[in-house]
Amino acid sequence: METTVASFLDPVKGFGLTFATMFRQKTTEQYPEEVKATAPRYHGRHVLNRHPDGLEKCIGCELCAWACPADAIYVEGADNTEDKRFSPGERYAAIYQINYLRCIFCGLCIEACPTRSLTMTNEYELADDSRQDLIFTKDQLLAPLLPGMEQPPHPMRLGDTDTDYYVGVANRASAVPGNDEVEGRLAGGPGHNDPLREES
Ligand code: SF4
Ligand code: SF4
Repeated sequence: METTVASFLDPVKGFGLTFATMFRQKTTEQYPEEVKATAPRYHGRHVLNRHPDGLEKCIGCELCAWACPADAIYVEGADNTEDKRFSPGERYAAIYQINYLRCIFCGLCIEACPTRSLTMTNEYELADDSRQDLIFTKDQLLAPLLPGMEQPPHPMRLGDTDTDYYVGVANRASAVPGNDEVEGRLAGGPGHNDPLREES
């Protein structure tokens, strides 16, 4: 008897669920006409950041490539010279590529980066119909030059050593234009090229 009642009620329950769903708020998203903002810490496309004078934060150490479980990053480091300097310190990334056909957006690479050069943006519109176009090169990944920044190669403007950059003024100062401390040094004002290790 119980089995007969259950077999009668099951379809009624099913239709009841369908009926109730008809009155729920619709969750259809009108993408791409309406692009919704992501969560603030959403893992999207990467960016290679710069110091406030425009030099690159990437030192070509390859730690991000070693940390990547999908083998999506390729880095080739090279030596800076005084005539051709792209980053503070000895090395910079001569070649930097991220293969977005492989990337699973886990964020392990940004955790491994010792200079906070590599971070992730909220940008997720990365679909393409060409495999080649989904291998992003350094030029595509580098952050744009903000006002007050200078296109590398150029000498170190914020100190005499890479330590000045990583624990000195360039590290303390915001990369946002308008920072008086950075702008004073960029303009070569008082204190330009002062050793900053004692201050930090
Ligand atoms: S987010 Fe993950 S998969 Fe993508 S490049 Fe970084 S470590 Fe590799
Ligand atoms: S992005 Fe960071 S971890 Fe990767 S090579 Fe550059 S400095 Fe090293």
